[in-house]
Amino acid sequence: MNETPEQVMQWFHTAVEKLSPVAAGSLSLRKSPCIRKNCPACAGGEGHSSHVLYGRRDGKRFSIYVPDEMVPAVRKAIANGRRVRELVAEAGVRYTEALKEKRRKESSL
Ligand SMILES: [Zn+2]
Repeated sequence: MNETPEQVMQWFHTAVEKLSPVAAGSLSLRKSPCIRKNCPACAGGEGHSSHVLYGRRDGKRFSIYVPDEMVPAVRKAIANGRRVRELVAEAGVRYTEALKEKRRKESSL
């Protein structure tokens, strides 16, 4: 692939722009008791499951409650976030290759 470092960054910005919104972490189901008195589900040890987004931020673990109706949106954001990380890795390789190609051309002038 013969591209300039500028072309690589242009490609990267265009590709990343389409990947919004983003999120990092993982969604899982957590079981917890509710606040109702005499709840049959809680009394039976069954409890209630709710979605939680787990992740790390500034080196610290976080977990936030995700209401059911927001699960699809958060899931999509996580998928976008994963894709952005892949794009950063790809951009790094292509950018470095482009820099080397640029140097080759300049030294052969
Ligand atoms: Zn309950």
